[in-house]
Amino acid sequence: MAKAQIQSVRGMYDILPERRRLFDHVMNVFSQAADDAGYGRVETPLLEDEALFIRSVGEGTDVVDKELYSFEDRGGKRLALRPEGTAGVVRAYLEHGMASWPQPVKLYYLEEMFRYDRPQEGRYRQHKQMGAEVIGDAHASTDAQLIVLLGRVLKRLRLPGISLQLNTIGDNACRPAYRKVLVEYLHAHEQELAAIDRERVAKNPLRVLDSKEAKTRAVLEDAPQTLNHLCEDCQAHFAGVLEYLDDLGVSYELNPLLVRGLDYYTRTVFEFYGEREGSQSSLGGGGRYDLLIEQLGGSATPAVGFASGIDRVLLEMESAAVVPELAKVKGVYVASLGEPARLAAFRLTQGLLDAGVRASGMVDKDSIGAQLARADRLGVPYAVIIGQREVRDETVILRDMASGAQEIVPIKSIIAELRLRFGIT
Ligand code: AMP
Repeated sequence: MAKAQIQSVRGMYDILPERRRLFDHVMNVFSQAADDAGYGRVETPLLEDEALFIRSVGEGTDVVDKELYSFEDRGGKRLALRPEGTAGVVRAYLEHGMASWPQPVKLYYLEEMFRYDRPQEGRYRQHKQMGAEVIGDAHASTDAQLIVLLGRVLKRLRLPGISLQLNTIGDNACRPAYRKVLVEYLHAHEQELAAIDRERVAKNPLRVLDSKEAKTRAVLEDAPQTLNHLCEDCQAHFAGVLEYLDDLGVSYELNPLLVRGLDYYTRTVFEFYGEREGSQSSLGGGGRYDLLIEQLGGSATPAVGFASGIDRVLLEMESAAVVPELAKVKGVYVASLGEPARLAAFRLTQGLLDAGVRASGMVDKDSIGAQLARADRLGVPYAVIIGQREVRDETVILRDMASGAQEIVPIKSIIAELRLRFGIT
């Protein structure tokens, strides 16, 4: 009996070359925009001490309570696969004494995240995020700068119908009082809340605000809003953020129910949505986290950041039919027929690669037709064909794949000829 095949882990998937190029495209657009704006790329390990996420993202959040991939390593240490990027970046900021660098420190990352979530379209157990953080700057213009950076990236990817939602959730000075009023309101309406949200009222009442449950959402229509319970500083900060956005003509919608799922946020929170329906329409979001650095053992340092799901962005691009025609690979396929030709083809392919020309070929027994079909699939503009006669004459046939036109070129000048045609200097 044939052995059962081993499949990829549920919620995790392979990215095959064609799609991988699209991911690269999105990542390049993001890196370019972040580099231009003075952010430096950082990479942190996939595995962190589990305590890092418990202390930052917070107990009582779905990400930590239900979705964390955590385990004990062989030395008995509790580790976790990172579910998000900010905690690791802040840990690195502290570990490498970046507080003594000129402030603010502007960093970006392109990393895999892991969440034991219920897999569905746009929600995976392993997904990629592009994110940016500005650490050491409390100014409202910084919040605006980050919002605009993500907006610019989504625009460059030609995504139509992107909307931006904003809210502020206050800070340590005003949030406790707001939380109290909110809890009182929710208690008064306890019977009308969905069961899952009744549990949240005690554990993490602000999370009730972004409940997806219809029953709860009806109760929330008249719930107290943070905007009306802000301290003066938070009020001034939020007004500042809006002013900077208005100045640039950025359109946004104020959403008093936007709180985001992680515990470390203070003041500004924001989220970008695409046109696709459903709860998987968030393309990215972020906010200020002025208390997190202290919470992780540093001195009080203001910071703000965002993360965007690349898989989601790609789905949105596909659904809006704005996936770019990626440039054809400038390269050549070397086809050969007959034994002596195979050696010449092998030698030429390696010579082309040494000379910086993209070249591939299969030294096999396929017919020329089958080999040209393979060249077509690769999308290369030229094929070089070598048969017995070409070996004898020390020539090759250079075929233009688009028109089918063929010409004979001496083998000793073909590398220079292709370099010339590809503009390789
Ligand atoms: P969050 O840290 O939850 O705000 O996530 C940031 C962004 O990552 C979201 O706006 C989504 O675009 C994306 N994202 C979050 N969770 C997943 C997931 N399980 N699968 C795919 N993308 C995700």
